[in-house]
Amino acid sequence: MINKSVLVINCGSSSLKFSVINVLKKKILLSGLSENFENKNAYIKWTFNSQKEKKNFYSKIDHKIILKYLINKILQKTLLYNNIIAVGHRIVHGGEKFTESVIITKKVIEAIKKASIFAPLHNPIQLIGISESIKILPHLKNKQVAVFDTSFHQTIPETSYLYALPIKFYEKYKIRRYGAHGTSHKYVSKMASKILNIPLDKFNCISCHLGNGSSITAIKNGKSIDTSMGLTPLEGLVMGTRCGNIDPAIIFYMFNKLNIKIDKINKILTEKSGMLGLTHITSDFRYLENNYLNDFRIKRAVDIFIHSLSKYIASYSILMENKINAIIFTGGIGENSVLIREKTIEKLKILNIFINHKLNNKIKFGKIGLINTNNSVPILVIPTNEELMIANDTFNIIIKK
Ligand code: ADP
Repeated sequence: MINKSVLVINCGSSSLKFSVINVLKKKILLSGLSENFENKNAYIKWTFNSQKEKKNFYSKIDHKIILKYLINKILQKTLLYNNIIAVGHRIVHGGEKFTESVIITKKVIEAIKKASIFAPLHNPIQLIGISESIKILPHLKNKQVAVFDTSFHQTIPETSYLYALPIKFYEKYKIRRYGAHGTSHKYVSKMASKILNIPLDKFNCISCHLGNGSSITAIKNGKSIDTSMGLTPLEGLVMGTRCGNIDPAIIFYMFNKLNIKIDKINKILTEKSGMLGLTHITSDFRYLENNYLNDFRIKRAVDIFIHSLSKYIASYSILMENKINAIIFTGGIGENSVLIREKTIEKLKILNIFINHKLNNKIKFGKIGLINTNNSVPILVIPTNEELMIANDTFNIIIKK
């Protein structure tokens, strides 16, 4: 069993991330990414034994082509093919059905299909990932596991998940808060409770996953009790290209007065807003951080991002009741952006949260560590590892079976 590994597949709307992980040794044997499916810059790149390789396709590709290439070419070439004992699939939306990861059966596939209405860019593609990997790895047909972004948030109480709409929209149509990034919030909160030596069932924290998509979760006694993303990942914090919270009446105004079609409004709110929309330059925080003081539009956009994040942290602090054991930063921005962490924490003095500038400058690029002063609530930077979490869940379910 010691050499046996899990293949983790994460299908994005026009990308595919993958890894092969030896769970018992906690070792990533292979990891890679394929991107730019829609154009001639499509490629797949991977790292195996510290060696980096890349193949360009010079044509449009799709998830089926990449999965075939991954399994038939890369896994064969690296001799990992025979070590794979199970496949873990990241699934964005599990609806209300799944409170934890499950072995994929026909019923599970049906439920994922049903939840596609809430994640139309992800669930259908992830179903292709499942059907293709069953096709290409028929001997692992019953060893495919679905790990849902939504399942960690199924502990959220009604007071947090219900919208104040006529109740039939929940009862009949299941419109409610589902949240996202659950695998990441679960992973970093577990890690933080270990690092701070507090049992998970007594651990209260606020976890900030800040990446291209950003979300924040209030975790009490190890369980998610509120989260910023809603029915879809559009709600909540200001993000790279998504608007986050806005007055819903803006949509009526765009539609009725500006005559913008509903599909276009959707595109504006999800792809053209956030930091990209505010700066008219980019959503890349590396650029934004480097140019914070050079361009007033960038400073303004970053300050709006910080305003939105600090307000959420402050409001979630009241859900902790007696004690916040930690604030956690993760995701590409949370793990690396010294500026965002500094400026956000500076706004939270009233909550007894203070940053140590020296530590804040030091903890980045994959490092784990505390960045607070001695008299502060602990602030932890923890690189997320959704792949490891998916591999762990998959391994545990398959072994227990
Ligand atoms: P995704 O949500 O797609 O998984 P990531 O978690 O990788 O995204 O985060 C991507 C974001 O992290 C981008 O905005 C990127 O600019 C930012 N980022 C990555 N590295 C740095 C860095 N060194 N400093 C500041 N921001 C960074």
